[in-house]
Amino acid sequence: MIVVLKNNVEEEKRNQLIDWLKGMGLGVHISTGESQTVLGLIGDTGKVDAELIDSLEIVESVKRVSETFKCCNRKFHPEDTVVEVGDVKIGGGNFAMIAGPCSVENEEQIVGIARDVKAAGANMLRGGAFKPRTSPYDFQGLKATGLEFLKAAKQETGLPIVTEIMNINDLSLFDDVDVLQVGTRNMQNFDLLKELGQTGKPILLKRGLANTLKELLMSAEYIMASGNENVILCERGIRTYSDYLRNTLDLGAVPMLHELSHLPVIVDPSHATGIARVVPPMAMAATAAGCDGLIIEVHNDPAHALCDGAQSLKPDEYAALVKKIKAVREVI
Ligand code: PEP
Ligand code: MN
Repeated sequence: MIVVLKNNVEEEKRNQLIDWLKGMGLGVHISTGESQTVLGLIGDTGKVDAELIDSLEIVESVKRVSETFKCCNRKFHPEDTVVEVGDVKIGGGNFAMIAGPCSVENEEQIVGIARDVKAAGANMLRGGAFKPRTSPYDFQGLKATGLEFLKAAKQETGLPIVTEIMNINDLSLFDDVDVLQVGTRNMQNFDLLKELGQTGKPILLKRGLANTLKELLMSAEYIMASGNENVILCERGIRTYSDYLRNTLDLGAVPMLHELSHLPVIVDPSHATGIARVVPPMAMAATAAGCDGLIIEVHNDPAHALCDGAQSLKPDEYAALVKKIKAVREVI
């Protein structure tokens, strides 16, 4: 249920109402806009007398929210959430350009790519240290050593780092990581999501490769309901009948997620397509669809990459794409 308060309500009256609602055993999510406050009621609202609340002097309207996701629902929080990662902001008109290799291979590689993508215009560095793979015999990442190399790249360039966490037991290794990525295979690993909800760190939540938008939002909800509101949604392609592409990039997800939720939505055209030459047109299409950022794989030597070389752009190709993205953003 959401309770919209009238403009410029006195703080004391507002707090009295909030205390009364909490006294009924409800959670109250407060969203304060420029002049209006929206209260999102969480819990068993079945017994709440909506008409009584509606009749209060300070209340403008009361609506029941039928969706099962509440904290991430735009009805609860009409304004866009802006996630802050150091000096970088994502959402509400702020655009994230996250780039880097699929996996960290050695210190020289990640530091070199970090310098290149920064020069091209990226504002965050990606790179996997713990790698989920389709075959267990494939390279699974440098793990803790990979995180150390990522830190070196951050120190060298100042770029905040985004990297995947697969197991909550590794959390203490991620202290210096700026954004924790939950990969497609872990989107519904609720134990992991719950624990990540107890960290204050921004979470980049990738859509499961066979999951619906509602399921993605329910996973975001799980993180938020555990106390962490810094969630970035990521569309990274889903399994369909596509034969020549790795996945199908569901671009309609971008405006739909924006309508349903206040969380920022970024797009990963690399894993969505699997083919480097298809990445730039889909990155531009995603930008035109209104995404809040792009996460793109870039490698200095794609032919010899240990992981996902076929979908990795070379640094100069990334630099050319950044210029086009800027041009698309100006148009929209
Ligand atoms: C990745 O970004 O490194 C990755 C493995 O992506 P996904 O989980 O979307 O496959
Ligand atoms: Mn990859």
